[in-house]
Amino acid sequence: MRTKLVAGNWKMHGSLAENEALLRTLLESREASGAVRWVVCVPFPYLAQVQSLLSGSAVAWGAQNASEHAKGAFTGEVSVAMLGEFGCRYVIVGHSERRVLYREGDAQVAAKFKAVKDGGLTPILCVGESLAQREAGRTNEVVGEQLRAVLESAGNDALADAVLAYEPVWAIGTGRSASPGQAQEVHGWLREQVARAAGEDAAARLPILYGGSVKAANAAELFAQPDIDGGLIGGASLIVDDFLAICRAADQ
Ligand code: PEP
Repeated sequence: MRTKLVAGNWKMHGSLAENEALLRTLLESREASGAVRWVVCVPFPYLAQVQSLLSGSAVAWGAQNASEHAKGAFTGEVSVAMLGEFGCRYVIVGHSERRVLYREGDAQVAAKFKAVKDGGLTPILCVGESLAQREAGRTNEVVGEQLRAVLESAGNDALADAVLAYEPVWAIGTGRSASPGQAQEVHGWLREQVARAAGEDAAARLPILYGGSVKAANAAELFAQPDIDGGLIGGASLIVDDFLAICRAADQ
């Protein structure tokens, strides 16, 4: 019932030359792939390049952040409408690097989520606990609160046409992935919360991605879990062969 999705988060990496080589290889390889949705979320300055290379292809693209405001005196910010002009379909919202390094709290993340939805793009909403929170047995409480903030602000239907990503902070960029069992436990619990808020149908339709040190070697086992619908991939999305192997693992 759910189409799998693999989204690369390039973070602040890339150059015109590197991007072109990576995207051309993705395009050549895309022919052979199945129904999995492939997405690259790139730094803002590269959106025009990505649009020109990927337009008309089966690889979608997106941004890693957006302003919660439509326009105005917000130096350095980028609006959802601007992203739409560059063909973005997806926007990552609430990545832990934004929450931790740029102090984005639940209320701001919820406002960004709503702005992305209102602008007709698809938010990829990230939730996840720190190691200390996990060790204190607070994982469900923390991710539940992050989810609730969005549902309260944007409405219980807000997850229709959205994507949720469970990204334990302790697994991001550390090389230490959650085990398939650990990830499935949280994904299953998140889906139950969505079912309570928005109904069984909405919950069954919602793609929930896992993110946190997904690699070619562990992707298939993670994606085989019943509530894991693909991945949000950081480091491995910059190595084209690894990203392709992860996309293929989602197709099994
Ligand atoms: C991410 O940036 O969302 C991420 C999951 O990074 P990594 O795959 O490098 O852990």
